[in-house]
Amino acid sequence: MNARADTIAAVATAPGAGGVGVLRVSGALAGSIARTVLGREPQPRHARYAAFRDRDEAVIDRGLLLWFPAPHSYTGEDVLELQTHGSPVVLRLLLARVVELGARHARPGEFSERAFLNGKLDLAQAEAVADLIASGSEAAARAAQRSLDGVFSERVRELTAGVVRLRVWIEAAIDFPEEEIDFLAAPQLGVDLDALRAKLGDLQAAARRGVRLADGLHAVIVGRPNVGKSSLLNALAASERAIVTEIAGTTRDVLRETIDLDGIALTLVDTAGLREAGDVVEREGIRRARAELERADLAVLVSDDVRAEADLALLADLPPRAARVVVHNKIDLVYSEPRAQRHDDTMHLWLSARSGDGLDLLVAELKRHAGVGESADGAFTARARHVAALERAGDRLAAASNALTIQRAGELAAEELRQVQHALGEITGEFSSDDLLGEIFSSFCIGK
Ligand code: GDP
Ligand code: ZN
Repeated sequence: MNARADTIAAVATAPGAGGVGVLRVSGALAGSIARTVLGREPQPRHARYAAFRDRDEAVIDRGLLLWFPAPHSYTGEDVLELQTHGSPVVLRLLLARVVELGARHARPGEFSERAFLNGKLDLAQAEAVADLIASGSEAAARAAQRSLDGVFSERVRELTAGVVRLRVWIEAAIDFPEEEIDFLAAPQLGVDLDALRAKLGDLQAAARRGVRLADGLHAVIVGRPNVGKSSLLNALAASERAIVTEIAGTTRDVLRETIDLDGIALTLVDTAGLREAGDVVEREGIRRARAELERADLAVLVSDDVRAEADLALLADLPPRAARVVVHNKIDLVYSEPRAQRHDDTMHLWLSARSGDGLDLLVAELKRHAGVGESADGAFTARARHVAALERAGDRLAAASNALTIQRAGELAAEELRQVQHALGEITGEFSSDDLLGEIFSSFCIGK
């Protein structure tokens, strides 16, 4: 059976009482449900004031009925929207009535999933719908809107078109073996490949920034016991505007604060409680903070300079991917001035969490990592899975370039380019598994 043949329904407005509540229905039965509710044929895309009745003809509520016949609707199917007073009871009764008339309860994200399956949105756009709804700052909302408009998808498609052009050209060269060497040695090929790699590099950078815009920056504070990690977290939270929203999945053992760095959310994690037992080896703290570190964009290593050498040795334990900052805390104890100095690509800051001296240096460094102040013109939101796909595409493109310019292996280069195409297609959903779709849409809210 075609899973999409059935008709789904859900309350689309947020739970709780509100001025208006919206019930959304999508699928083949939406039309007959609309006729039953209205008592006659609904007019497409016109708001119609009507009484919504239960089975016994008693009025549940009066409100607006909107009818969007396929394909000109959000899901691409027949869609019915009923606007009522925003009473959870009214909405529950109305939903029950619609279910009685043949609809079933929608799963989270099922409307958007249908919009994707019916080609109304590509996958990156569908994800942008959820990111727009979840956006925690103006910058994030504007950037999500651009992704929803297709700004990100368009750049992925442009890149894909370039890859396809190159692949077709190489495959044509392979089909004329006597000329293959000449074709594959054409300088233009190298130029085109380099241009594609540069373009992909730009897109990776933009997508990484897009993830930061959507998710904010995640920093983890690590270090030996008593160096002042918790004091630093508290000092930062006090100096900047703390965001009070509860973050889902907060672990008991980990202290978390989210602060607003000029519009970008910075989540700071203090790995306190991970290592209190005195007999635990020092590195145990870092090992158990590993899960946090794996997700972090930035590691803040705190030292109090009493055992600076041992502290700095911990740098080697940090995941290579994450950027790092070293904080030399408690300068008030040695009467020294705050300062910032770069050693081997790592920024070192001397400050006092207790007095607050030099805290501004850390805030500035965090803002730099968060991309605060970078122009947000044209910025779009992205997700970690998009960045991962772009990285895979980059690896395959490098391999294609290698196969072509060094090995002169046309077949191999063409195959690598096919892989690039595949990785890019995963972003927009041209290539997607049911598992991936399930994972993406199940994290949406109900009714979206
Ligand atoms: P954690 O175990 O790394 O989280 O360290 P805490 O934040 O709990 O601090 C350990 C001790 O160092 C506490 O007594 C703090 O008051 C103290 N401390 C933290 N930062 C400073 C600082 O900048 N200067 C001084 N003098 N003491 C500090
Ligand atoms: Zn602590």
